[in-house]
Amino acid sequence: MKAKPRIAIYKMSSCAGCQLEFLNLEPVLLDVVGALDFSYFVMARRGNLPGPYDIGFVEGAITCGEEIEKLKQARKDCKMLVALGTCACYGGLPSIKNWVPQRVVEGLVYSDLSAIHSTKAYSIDQYVEVDAFLKGCPVNKDELVEFIKGALLGIRPYLRPHSVCVECKLHENVCLFTSKGEVCMGPVTTAGCGALCPSNAKACDGCRGPANDANTESLAHAFLAHGLHKNDIIRKFRKFAGLTPEFSKGVEVV
Ligand code: SF4
Ligand code: SF4
Ligand code: SF4
Repeated sequence: MKAKPRIAIYKMSSCAGCQLEFLNLEPVLLDVVGALDFSYFVMARRGNLPGPYDIGFVEGAITCGEEIEKLKQARKDCKMLVALGTCACYGGLPSIKNWVPQRVVEGLVYSDLSAIHSTKAYSIDQYVEVDAFLKGCPVNKDELVEFIKGALLGIRPYLRPHSVCVECKLHENVCLFTSKGEVCMGPVTTAGCGALCPSNAKACDGCRGPANDANTESLAHAFLAHGLHKNDIIRKFRKFAGLTPEFSKGVEVV
């Protein structure tokens, strides 16, 4: 019988919400566990096993030298390395600290800074080659299953290139931006969440990062024309993926 692919789940600077989605994969959790050998998954098992691994999923932004070394070792140990969630793909929520001087932001959290040596929060592809990016805060479970199936079959999974607005329209939602003037990042954000937030009457925060061909300059101009405050617009572009060229352009406009 063919051996199951060996899987490693690594945690960097993160809330652990993305790796938790593996354990939330009901009703297919038993199928996933039956098809994959989770050799290294600290959240889910004791007695974790050393590499090499077939697929490594890395969750979290990189924010210190220790994580850089851990990531480089993960790259050596894994045939395929996957960025799991927006922190790993773009820096995510930890990257909001990048816009404040490092020592100032550390002082907001720790009273004694003598042992603190963090770096700015970066995506994992700033340090190693990455084979696939699973976006979202947290990752979308259907997309995760689709990716696992693709990896098992040796085919490229379908990861959506279009924007959240497309999914929002498919749900026949009333647009929160045009009807209520809310700062919605849907037009420039990668789909794949099923327009989760606008479908629940909440504007998109851009947690899945820039869509293909995202025209962020145009959206920023539209926000300004609607009288939205400059700081609200900047916060939206910087909340999850502020380091990307696309979302940086949106900030430059305001
Ligand atoms: S992407 Fe969101 S859910 Fe995933 S680890 Fe980062 S903060 Fe947590
Ligand atoms: S509510 Fe947001 S995601 Fe939906 S159509 Fe309007 S701008 Fe697009
Ligand atoms: S609607 Fe926007 S903020 Fe909400 S889950 Fe989807 S991409 Fe993330």
